[in-house]
Amino acid sequence: MDKKSLLQDSQEMGISSKGKKEYEKFLTGGKLTMKQSIIAFCYDCAGFYSNGKEDCEVDTCPLYPFMPYNKSKKDKSDLVTIKGFLKTNISAADMEKLRLEQSEIEKDSG
Ligand code: SF4
Repeated sequence: MDKKSLLQDSQEMGISSKGKKEYEKFLTGGKLTMKQSIIAFCYDCAGFYSNGKEDCEVDTCPLYPFMPYNKSKKDKSDLVTIKGFLKTNISAADMEKLRLEQSEIEKDSG
């Protein structure tokens, strides 16, 4: 199926949902970021969410942690993300300590 046909299908069957705008942007020649590409891919894979904005529950899919309607996504309090780390207030001394620890880890790993 070509991009024009997919765009038509998306416009006719796709519901307003995360990834729709990005998917249609891609099909009309727009460039996407990695995050936009993931949600556009899920939108396509999930049949344009024409049956509703549901969790696909395919936990064997590598994209599942990033799936926009993944119900378990909200429960990630135990995960440390770079973004979250950068938002924390950290002293210069602690930052230096982390740098030293990181360089020790890199030395050990060869
Ligand atoms: S996470 Fe689900 S909707 Fe997204 S690509 Fe994988 S199977 Fe498809």
